[in-house]
Amino acid sequence: MSIAGLKFLVTGAATGIGAATATLAASKGAHVLVSDVNDEGGQALVDEIREAGGVAHYQHCDVSNEEQVQALMQAAADTLGGLDVLHNNAGIHETILGEGITLETMSRETFEKVMGINLVGPFMCAKYALPLLKQSDNASIINAGSTGSFSAYEHSVAYGSSKGGIAMLTKNLAVDLAPHRIRVNCYCPGTIKTQMVENFIAASHDAEILVSPKTLTHLVPRLGETREVAELVCFLASEQSSFVNGVVWLIDGGSLAWRGTIDALGMKGEM
Ligand code: NAP
Repeated sequence: MSIAGLKFLVTGAATGIGAATATLAASKGAHVLVSDVNDEGGQALVDEIREAGGVAHYQHCDVSNEEQVQALMQAAADTLGGLDVLHNNAGIHETILGEGITLETMSRETFEKVMGINLVGPFMCAKYALPLLKQSDNASIINAGSTGSFSAYEHSVAYGSSKGGIAMLTKNLAVDLAPHRIRVNCYCPGTIKTQMVENFIAASHDAEILVSPKTLTHLVPRLGETREVAELVCFLASEQSSFVNGVVWLIDGGSLAWRGTIDALGMKGEM
């Protein structure tokens, strides 16, 4: 895949899918701007990428903070000299906020915080990245959706609403930015082994809920790896996907292709 030399910004990149994407993109020759609220983790990732011979910089950014988003795009201009790829990866699930997560117990603040990071953040990043992306010959925006962009889950009213919204933000931006030759796509993972999922399991009434054959719906009978999602993001950023635009792309091991659990197929899975 040809992403060598692309100026590649990843939000929420200190850990998980963002870190895997920044690492993979840099290994393929992209020049990466790592951004996160976790400065220690983000800077450590930059050090790792540089030690491996890659080009990477770090900039703090809470994507729900408009001034910090503006500063992030200034940092892209200053450190990368522009921007080709905006990877809107940062996201949270309400379970990590330690507040009520049912409709009865959730505060308006919790709902708005999740929407602010997962949906308003990508909108603001796209808005302030636009002047830089307009100058690129290979511009694209890649948004983090979820299987929650398609289907509802228990106790995910804020997360699911934000991920449903990101699917339509993707399509609407693809339309509005087409005259500028900026492609806009979205990837929708199933359950991927990251800290977000660890937190979700820890907060769950049943620690096995996501990882037992009785509940797992991935037809590839295991959790996904961050590297597998990173490969899709790099493909969506590359010239090889030049005719892919406005898609909301499932990468879920087949989870939403059917209605059932792998137990019904007699599969044990590799958990
Ligand atoms: P993760 O491991 O929790 O990593 C997310 C990163 O974003 C963390 O470094 C986190 O920092 C950072 N972050 C949190 N709030 C932020 C903010 N306001 N501004 C900037 N960065 C912020 O998450 P992940 O599992 O890799 O998920 C990445 C994306 O994929 C998310 O949008 C998620 O919804 C989506 N996704 C993940 C899965 C999955 O199974 N993992 C499935 C579907 C979709 P702190 O750790 O300091 O909070």
